[in-house]
Amino acid sequence: MSPRPYAMDVRRSRGRRYPEPPHAYRNDYARDRDRVIHSRAFRRLEAKTQVFTTRFSDHFRTRLTHTLEVAQIARTVTGALGLNTDLAEALALVHDIGHPPFGHAGEDQLDLRMREFGERFDHNLHALRIVEQFEQRYLDFPGLNLTFEVREGIVKHSRDYPAEEFPDLAEYLLDQRPPLESQLIDLVDEIAYNTADLDDGLEARFVDLDQLSREVPLFEVEYRSIEHVYPQGARKLKFNEALKRILDHLATDLIETTQRNVELAGVRTIEDVRHDRNRLAGFSPAVREQNARLKDFLLSRVYSHAAISDDRERSVRALDALFDFFLEHPDRLPPYYAHMAERQPRHRVVCDYIAGMTDQFLLRQCQQLLAPAAY
Ligand code: MG
Repeated sequence: MSPRPYAMDVRRSRGRRYPEPPHAYRNDYARDRDRVIHSRAFRRLEAKTQVFTTRFSDHFRTRLTHTLEVAQIARTVTGALGLNTDLAEALALVHDIGHPPFGHAGEDQLDLRMREFGERFDHNLHALRIVEQFEQRYLDFPGLNLTFEVREGIVKHSRDYPAEEFPDLAEYLLDQRPPLESQLIDLVDEIAYNTADLDDGLEARFVDLDQLSREVPLFEVEYRSIEHVYPQGARKLKFNEALKRILDHLATDLIETTQRNVELAGVRTIEDVRHDRNRLAGFSPAVREQNARLKDFLLSRVYSHAAISDDRERSVRALDALFDFFLEHPDRLPPYYAHMAERQPRHRVVCDYIAGMTDQFLLRQCQQLLAPAAY
């Protein structure tokens, strides 16, 4: 499909912080995508928890494989809508780069620790600091020198930051909506993890198919129609097919509803997208309801399962102990961070260092620096 006039056009990008000559055959968003893939923070996603920690088993999604699933769905959805697929792909690949070890439990714990100092931990803002400061790869500039639209998407894809509370983010046009490519990432993320967590939940034997059919109508409808055609089929393969159809159903609804919202709002240009009162990317009310039921199921049957929550508590304790250790012993930080701790608040530097760790690195640090048997 040819690009829509309200797609983000790379030729109209607000550009990079440090100007660079154009590349012979890659546009700026494609270059941003490649820079993200070549970053160290991207490679570390391999060893960061999505839902099941790496010490639980190696078979489950990590934040890296989750990210690849988001990128793939994002390309399909934005392509079908005639939007900028290069921008969407760069945004998808970078969207979780600021996640600390141990998934949301790690994020909540870091946030809790930062509140003691009147600050917060936010993975989107941490991602921005990674791509602006912590990645040191190039001779000409610190960070990855990404285009404005990718940095803006890192900040704004999943939430609105009130301009009065976040004066540091003023350059990211907080009073405007981000482009559709960015708005869609958050919803594509939701499609990816809702379906993947169901899959991993079944693999871990937390999910019972009969219970799933009873509690999630969206699954029941798909599964029943598959059973009708393949009565002798293996249950796992019928489950896979149902999951595939659910993903397709959610992505199709996202495409159609977003298209309808754009038309109803009379949007013609990217500026119309930015100045609309509302985000235009979204699911229909019916699918929002179906999604809510699916989320309820995941919350009660997967996320709060004892095996996951025990592991989560152990992980949080380890993170907490390491945070205390480095607060007391900043001289034990690696040189780059120890040097920063002389110029910046210590808790901030400790938080940044820990947030960058993989699950396994954090546990190894605990074993080396603290009582080895406890972790
Ligand atoms: Mg994600």
